[in-house]
Amino acid sequence: MDTDFIFKENHYRLLFENSMDAMLITTVSGEVCRANPEACKLFEKTEEELCRGGRAAIVDLGDPKVALAMRKRNRLGSTREVLTFIKSDGSKFLAECTSTIFQDEEGLVFVSMTFRDITFYKRSMENLMRSNEEIIFLATFDYLTGAFNRGSFIQKLKIEIERTQFGNTTMSLLLIDIDYFKHINDRHGHLGGDIVLKHFTERIQSRLRSHDFLGRLGGDEFVVCLADTVLSEAAGIAEKMRTDVEELNIYYNSTLIKITISIGVAQYKAEMGADTDAFISKADEYLYRAKENRNCVVSGE
Ligand code: GH3
Ligand code: MG
Repeated sequence: MDTDFIFKENHYRLLFENSMDAMLITTVSGEVCRANPEACKLFEKTEEELCRGGRAAIVDLGDPKVALAMRKRNRLGSTREVLTFIKSDGSKFLAECTSTIFQDEEGLVFVSMTFRDITFYKRSMENLMRSNEEIIFLATFDYLTGAFNRGSFIQKLKIEIERTQFGNTTMSLLLIDIDYFKHINDRHGHLGGDIVLKHFTERIQSRLRSHDFLGRLGGDEFVVCLADTVLSEAAGIAEKMRTDVEELNIYYNSTLIKITISIGVAQYKAEMGADTDAFISKADEYLYRAKENRNCVVSGE
């Protein structure tokens, strides 16, 4: 720092006139004495208009934080807040605002105010948060059906297995596959097939209890984890799902589409340990058997 340098009046004026931030000099009661070019740009008013209207014409008095900020500034001499302001066309915007009371050489009291429009920053943050939510959704769920995707289902299943081992309870898996789904695609097109997958998923979801969860392993193959459920109970739930789906009337392009499903049911066994593949393979074994007849449930120890 050049210690010999002395700020002169015109140095301050240059800073005021060239600042990237909007600046006002006001009285404590809110009359605007000076406005820099950036303030004129921000509020879309000339300096004369800003001086004529005073602080009251640019601050949104409906913002409850305004009165609080004013009280804080009067108490501490300075404050920095995000407040709502108003442009000449009446539109409102958020700006970070500093307000500092100072005394000039003659002892007169003024307030220096700086403003930074944070609309762009706020919008960017909102977009970023929305994108983050979308990324999390896509990483967790199957986009078409809203069921857990394979990866997140396996993760949840691991946790459920730990819970089962810790609580010395049991659980069951249903492996569900739509019968002759290729024919649906062939007859009604891929979009028709997608509609079927959506309706099917909704119907299955409606049967789930709060601790159960549904995953899409791929294509038309789905898996349901039934927490705290023994095999016989799981087979009963699977049978209800099978009839639910059989009774489903799905319309696509005004055409009724009927579907059936095959389900393999397996119960968790301690010897499977944390091996989710072994558990799913067991249910797959019974699904394979169910596929021999289709539209049925096969379960086993
Ligand atoms: P099976 O009774 O033996 O199960 O016969 P299937 O015709 O259902 O045979 P499979 O399960 O092998 O067929 C699955 C088909 O699902 C094949 C694939 O083209 C189709 N498919 C996979 N993903 C999608 C999807 O996201 N949308 C649609 N519409 N079709 C899909
Ligand atoms: Mg199938």
